Amino acid sequence: MADYKYLKRLFQAYYKEKQSEIPAVNLFKNREFGFIPWEKQIMIRHIGFNSPTNLKEYLVRNTPKHAYSSGSLYFQPENQNMEGKGYRGCDLIIDIDVDHFYTPCKDDHDIWYCKECGKSGKGMPEKCPGCGKLKLKTLNWICEDCLNVAKNQIIRLIYDFLLPDFGMEIAEMKIAFSGHRGYHLKIENDAIRTLSSDERREIVDYITGENISFESLGFQERSGRIYGFSRENIGWSQKIIRKIEELLRKPKSEIENLLSNSRMFKLNQNHIQSFLNYKEDLLSIILNDQKNNWAIEGFGLTIWHKFLKAIVKQIGIEVDVPVSVDIHRLIRYPGSLHGKTGFKVQELHPDELDDFNPLDEVQERLDPIVFKSEKEITQKLEIIEPEVPVTKLKGEHYGPYMKGEIIEVPNHFAVFLLCKGVAKTV
Ligand SMILES: [Zn+2]
Ligand SMILES: [Zn+2]
Repeated sequence: MADYKYLKRLFQAYYKEKQSEIPAVNLFKNREFGFIPWEKQIMIRHIGFNSPTNLKEYLVRNTPKHAYSSGSLYFQPENQNMEGKGYRGCDLIIDIDVDHFYTPCKDDHDIWYCKECGKSGKGMPEKCPGCGKLKLKTLNWICEDCLNVAKNQIIRLIYDFLLPDFGMEIAEMKIAFSGHRGYHLKIENDAIRTLSSDERREIVDYITGENISFESLGFQERSGRIYGFSRENIGWSQKIIRKIEELLRKPKSEIENLLSNSRMFKLNQNHIQSFLNYKEDLLSIILNDQKNNWAIEGFGLTIWHKFLKAIVKQIGIEVDVPVSVDIHRLIRYPGSLHGKTGFKVQELHPDELDDFNPLDEVQERLDPIVFKSEKEITQKLEIIEPEVPVTKLKGEHYGPYMKGEIIEVPNHFAVFLLCKGVAKTV
């Protein structure tokens, strides 16, 4: 039996057993649904359901590999063409996925292969360091560290941006762990539902800090003097000032590391030295709000901009922009299973975020790992990828493994490896 049939049966048993726990999204009848089956990598969409019961029946009967519903609302979600659906508006969806940005732990667990020259390595290079080709095959893995980064981004998104700068309300937010490498947040509010794609892009630009104009925030050079930001201006000015203050309060050696880091400030030795010399002065200037005197020797407007862009990069949220801008996107359905991990897409209240730990969650209600059995059932698998990194799941370490290795592992981890496509049953 092909392994996908086995996984499909497992997913089916889950959907049968856990029907009552699968939530109904708001305005259910107006949502479009989409599914990717096990047999073929195609999205079957333009489906509507009259009731959550019908959806659950569909999940049991067809048991897809992936299940999605729209952020948009339609009069006729099942209509086959977009014009005929009768668009009524779209929730604002913000997706944060570790796939799209660098985290240091990727140097340990993300593996790339160049099809062109055969070179392979770890991390997240933009192109093959051997031949310069851009197309790399990658095996992306998960770990607590990068999932924590994603979680912290969602927390900062809510408490540093959406609440203070947009006046949005917690009660209108729906958060979900995606079942793999990220989280998404959905804002359900009548005014926001009417926003155009361009307006959504503006919101996202603000949140990422992309294209930020320092000049319009008051940062400029006049008669050879640098005019900085004011602490009193809320929004980005305040965020930047706080971040600079945080940096200036660090020990010199740590500042030096950050300023020279090629993924952070990337400043040269002269500028770093100069910054360190002026560290205390700048801190007192900022604290006293003397905004007309941000003087550091050797820091002209260009170096300041380079410095500030690196500051903004640390504050801005790593949003997957197209997801927010495209009003016809489908997002994973809460309570459904992610076909590449076997983990549940877990809805979370903002208050539950802090303690939520998807790879080792203590509250059963919130646990995305649904195939962990009471009895320690194990499975025999053969590894079919050249290399599989270490995985930490439910407090246990597994691997690393090499191609051809035969392993015997607990059922929930076996399901994960099979869904990831790096092993087969023997
Ligand atoms: Zn290459
Ligand atoms: Zn990681």
